[in-house]
Amino acid sequence: MVPFQDMKGRHVAEREAYLKVIGDVIDSGELAGGRYVEKFERDFATYCGVAHAVGVGSGTEALWLTLLAMGIGPGDEVITVPMSFVATVEAICLTGAKPVFVDIDPHTYTLDPTALHGALTHRAKAIIPVHLFGQPADMAPILEFARQHGLRVIEDAAQAHGAECGGQKVGSIGDAGCFSFYPAKNLGAMGEAGAVVTGDKKLADRIQKLRNHGQSDKNSHALVGWNCRMDGIQGAVLSLKLQRLDHENQMRRCHARMYAEKLSDLSELDLPMEASGRSHVFHIYAIRTPARDRLILNFRANQIEFGVHYPVPIHLQPAFHHLGLRLGDFPISESYAKELVSLPMFPEMETEQIDLVVRAICTTFDR
Ligand SMILES: *Cc1c(COP(=O)(O)O)cnc(C)c1O
Repeated sequence: MVPFQDMKGRHVAEREAYLKVIGDVIDSGELAGGRYVEKFERDFATYCGVAHAVGVGSGTEALWLTLLAMGIGPGDEVITVPMSFVATVEAICLTGAKPVFVDIDPHTYTLDPTALHGALTHRAKAIIPVHLFGQPADMAPILEFARQHGLRVIEDAAQAHGAECGGQKVGSIGDAGCFSFYPAKNLGAMGEAGAVVTGDKKLADRIQKLRNHGQSDKNSHALVGWNCRMDGIQGAVLSLKLQRLDHENQMRRCHARMYAEKLSDLSELDLPMEASGRSHVFHIYAIRTPARDRLILNFRANQIEFGVHYPVPIHLQPAFHHLGLRLGDFPISESYAKELVSLPMFPEMETEQIDLVVRAICTTFDR
């Protein structure tokens, strides 16, 4: 059996260290917000190369609060891609704004900047590029378009902790970057957590208030907010895990290189590419083939776990029926949704496990 991810194996090496910091947080009593969260915020801001980080309860909250803090709401439009995790679009909808989609670039699977013009109306307020699977979106033309049209840029960096575009860490390039620390992400908590990073102090201050009931001082509520605080335990664990992130991303990149070498002869497959000037951190290693069904059957027969990211593009999900979008509206996302399959990928993966996956793929195509 080859697992898709190894959530248990992930914590074995440093188990004692995690228990120690969790014990420290319990002893301190700083369980919701507090100094362990503040320390992680400083650590993560430094890592990303930005002035501010605000810890919240999840990546979805990071996106939602960033949009709210920018004053985006009913009557506004936010441009993003239909090929992402649904949370990107949920966050837009929950502010009352309308998501407007552009298709993905066929090679990088990230927002196609040349499609932005066709999606622009006078109601547009922001663009959310998604650094899908760990590959940064093509930020320079997106920022240029946003500057020309007075739009804010919010990076959905939930799958790309530590990836770089033009020498800058993702999250630090747009007006704000939103991260998820869901346990399976490249930087994962021991539960749910997320953060927003930004160089904009006013924006950081607003998000800080919104995540804590709009509170400016104790018993003084400047805004209508919500409870989106990060747990102290997550803050402490994340500071510790952040020290391993670069090494773990390197391991993922090694595994990706190995897959690429061993699968390069199979003309039936499209393998992930790394765009020039960008570094891919392979949260997900997704290959593409019209023979996906056959490949999946063979994976099942050989006990190889796999993922499909994402089988239904967001504009075709029942929840977004009210947007009035149809099959045919975003052809690249739609055709790739039928062809993508994600191979096992995690830092602790062994070469023998990669070989088992490769063997199952090769036999599918009679090699
Ligand atoms: C995981 C993810 C999110 C949401 O993060 P949660 O912490 O699960 O709320 C948002 N966008 C993308 C692209 C994701 O992969």
